[in-house]
Amino acid sequence: MNHPLKIAVIGGGAAGFFSAVTAKRNFPEAEVTIYEKSQKVLSKVKISGGGRCNVTNHCFDTDELAKNYPRGEQFLRKAFKQFSVQDTIDWYESRGVKLVTLPDNCMFPRSDSSQTIIDCLMEEAIQLNVEIKIQMPILGMEKKADYFELTTATEKITADRVILTVGGIPKRSGMEWILKAGCEMINPVPSLFTFNMPNHPVTELMGVVVEQTESKIEREKLVANGPLLVTHWGMSGPSVLKLSAWGARLLAERNYEFNLLVNWVNGKKEEEIRAMLQSLAQGEHGAKKVGNLNPFGISRRMWQFICDRLGFSEELRWNELGKKNLNKLVNQLINDTYPVSGKTTFKEEFVTAGGVALKQVDVNTMQHKQMEGLFFAGEVLDIDGITGGFNFQAAWTTGFIAGKHVGK
Ligand SMILES: Cc1cc2nc3c(=O)[nH]c(=O)nc-3n(C[C@H](O)[C@H](O)[C@H](O)COP(=O)(O)OP(=O)(O)OC[C@H]3O[C@@H](n4cnc5c(N)ncnc54)[C@H](O)[C@@H]3O)c2cc1C
Repeated sequence: MNHPLKIAVIGGGAAGFFSAVTAKRNFPEAEVTIYEKSQKVLSKVKISGGGRCNVTNHCFDTDELAKNYPRGEQFLRKAFKQFSVQDTIDWYESRGVKLVTLPDNCMFPRSDSSQTIIDCLMEEAIQLNVEIKIQMPILGMEKKADYFELTTATEKITADRVILTVGGIPKRSGMEWILKAGCEMINPVPSLFTFNMPNHPVTELMGVVVEQTESKIEREKLVANGPLLVTHWGMSGPSVLKLSAWGARLLAERNYEFNLLVNWVNGKKEEEIRAMLQSLAQGEHGAKKVGNLNPFGISRRMWQFICDRLGFSEELRWNELGKKNLNKLVNQLINDTYPVSGKTTFKEEFVTAGGVALKQVDVNTMQHKQMEGLFFAGEVLDIDGITGGFNFQAAWTTGFIAGKHVGK
């Protein structure tokens, strides 16, 4: 080759920028160009985390970290050894961006603005001379003998190496040009959504949060813990979002029609709850009204809703509950059933499960195992995480590895 190595990065998102700047730092002689189809680069970073950008998660054990990815866990366990959460923190900090950790372990820029991350990535790209071409959708890609030919609406571009970072592709039709180029793709389904419960009376409790719940999909092994939020449409909050991610494929097959079983008391078992309620009924607070006192710290509105559903009168006192009602209450607390019909996007914060099949990607380099010179990073891979900064961490990690090896 008697020209500088030409590296084409397809897609100007988090993974595209991270792989491009890493490539240029490792192979300064190479010409690195980002091709972005829209008018703006890094547009998802801009809107991420409600405009604050949840950059990563305060989880330093790579095995534990990998457990937050319904798709890609095994693959990322190895990838994180090359670029971990600590590396992300150091990378940004060494460029003047301090990340802070919130009580739920989510990490944001201290500025609380996603623009800080955009500015940092842009400055790095400009300083390193990465070329950025906007409004340049790549429509086709063909591997020739020792280079790639990329097709745009108006021209053919050649590149020695390609890093594909086009993000999640929500429809199979959008994957056609990548399939045609010879990549195996896993069918896309949405992940991270909330559950609709049309016309269910629980929606009148919109805004109520129960902090410690355990949710399950009926007749499935899927279980998730965490706060549950009642919304105008049904249910959301971390426990529901986790279920939507782990069950993304299964719930799509069921056309989002299933029963959700909620344990309102943090997964506590029947016997423990029965014992707690019995001692309350027989103890010094036995004369108090059931609707006014619960020993579990469940929000008052939700507790009263549970009691109403069981047909308890407002005047019913703990010491009048009786065995039958006690059993009904125990069952309602551990197995409260809600029919789900449909889904809603969570604050528009969805990700796509599916994408480039991982078995054809070498985790040590992010290179296609058969098609030399083609690399991948970010959500285009069949990798997705739950909420909490995990999706960006996967983009930084895979982007870094691709950029580090693309020029070799
Ligand atoms: C509203 C919202 C909020 C989010 N908040 C967070 C958060 O706080 N923390 C977190 O970890 N994750 C968050 N996510 C998920 C996260 O944004 C994505 O996982 C991440 O952006 C993936 O990065 P990527 O570079 O792979 O893809 P993208 O960011 O989607 O970038 C892909 C780019 O490729 C371009 N492109 C696509 N096709 C072509 C083509 N043919 N030719 C040229 N260019 C093309 C696209 O226009 C886009 O700019 C959020 C997602 C959404 C939707």
